[in-house]
Amino acid sequence: MGFNIAIDGPAGAGKSTIARRAAEELGFVYVDTGAMYRAIAVYLLQKGIPPEEKEQVEAAVKEIQVSIAYEEGEQQVLLNGENVTSWLRREEVGRMASSVSAIPAVRQALFELQRSLAEKEDVIMDGRDIGTAILPNAELKIYLTASVETRARRRCLELSQKGEEADLAEVEKDIRERDERDMNRETAPLRQAPDAIYLDTSHMTIEEVVGKIKTLCQRRRQCEG
Ligand code: C5P
Repeated sequence: MGFNIAIDGPAGAGKSTIARRAAEELGFVYVDTGAMYRAIAVYLLQKGIPPEEKEQVEAAVKEIQVSIAYEEGEQQVLLNGENVTSWLRREEVGRMASSVSAIPAVRQALFELQRSLAEKEDVIMDGRDIGTAILPNAELKIYLTASVETRARRRCLELSQKGEEADLAEVEKDIRERDERDMNRETAPLRQAPDAIYLDTSHMTIEEVVGKIKTLCQRRRQCEG
């Protein structure tokens, strides 16, 4: 069993940037579970299946095989053997992922993959239900968040750096809707695990957050002996 760090939190809290950086510095494998939900979303968009058509989504999930590989340390997501990583960060893919991740069959399809990855290696895994459902025994759990306004500003900056048009009010509305869906769904809602450490990054730099996680990890490792 590896040493597992679970990072959960709402959209735009900086989970992937922080987890990737911390994994690099600690020599851990970074597992981005949102990317797996996004891969399922790519398939549904390709097939023209709307998220409200639950039965069609459930049938489609049976045709999907998601797997991951690493290229120069970067996680790649394979959808039925095809590398779809370059599609995953599109806005429509994120929206579809956020809607269909509430469907239990979708979550079930990714459960084993996520669990098995953490069994073999030291991993930092980020998502919404890692500390509560996927890795309830993780050695370190972090709940990473920031104010809605901060998250919207960060997402806008990220989009404009990619050369995409971004309207702050629209992005903020989208983030609020995503929070609402992720926190209030019946299956595996986004919650802070009781034993997770709460980190509000609104007024912290990336380096400060990564430094904090590294210190917490080192302390836990010392305690483990
Ligand atoms: O984190 P990211 O924005 O890439 O995730 C895309 C969507 O997948 C989220 O909005 C969330 O609804 C869903 N998700 C989830 N559980 C996870 C990871 C992501 O429900 N562990």
